[in-house]
Amino acid sequence: MGIYTQKRFSNFQVVLELMGKFLMYLCNMRTTKIEWTEQTWNPSVGCHKVSSGCKNCYAETMANRLKAMGTKGYENGFGFSLMPERLEQPLKIKKPTKFFVNSMSDLFHEQMPFEYLDAIFEVIENTPRHTYQVLTKREKIMSEYLKNKDLPKNVWLGVTVESRITKYRIDYLRKINASIRFLSIEPLLDDVGELDLRDIHWVIVGGESGIKARPMSSAWPMNIKKQCEQQEVAFFFKQWGTWGADGVRRNKKINGRELDGRVYNEYPELIKEYFK
Ligand code: SF4
Repeated sequence: MGIYTQKRFSNFQVVLELMGKFLMYLCNMRTTKIEWTEQTWNPSVGCHKVSSGCKNCYAETMANRLKAMGTKGYENGFGFSLMPERLEQPLKIKKPTKFFVNSMSDLFHEQMPFEYLDAIFEVIENTPRHTYQVLTKREKIMSEYLKNKDLPKNVWLGVTVESRITKYRIDYLRKINASIRFLSIEPLLDDVGELDLRDIHWVIVGGESGIKARPMSSAWPMNIKKQCEQQEVAFFFKQWGTWGADGVRRNKKINGRELDGRVYNEYPELIKEYFK
């Protein structure tokens, strides 16, 4: 390699490193545009797909980019990795903050050691000023870990229910003594049919976004909204996503968040104060 080529190569490496650091910052602990949270906290990263909602996983795309850029911590790509150096991050933040835990993974991943979960929950317990939102598609491990445990009051616990065949996750969630139990029905991929929302406080619904997004029929979120009204559960409609209410593909911002002519930003009574 000539001197000029070497120099160009090292400049390229510097740019890659900087981009990697920026992406790392975004994925590590960042302010977020997710409407119902403020920051993400990723004490572990990496995952693997377990159901149809995982098909176009954002975290996988991001992790693979970080690996390609040689970013520290992502040598394993989307493989599961513990990040113990991030464990204490919330302790250093004084301002009460809503954290979405493990946006780049699943907290109850098969390779997550229960001792490490103990350490995560210890941080949560020691920072009652913060709120932690935990969302999983691994309801059985969640249930196994949390049985006979008192979940700290500052945890909102949720399961993803993206389709009719994943509704069974709700039964695992309702048995756990969490201060807020919520469903993330996103990306909504079919008509979920009848929902038993007993002991569920909050339902968040949204369509898929991104290049490979799958369309959502307007009848599907309407069915969920109706059942939330009947069963007196707070309903939050997050977005149409890439496919609009009229079935046309366009920018998700243009497709917006109106359902049946209005925006649904409902929160459970217990947590309304967090969104004033
Ligand atoms: S569980 Fe979540 S993080 Fe894991 S593959 Fe599925 S969508 Fe991605």
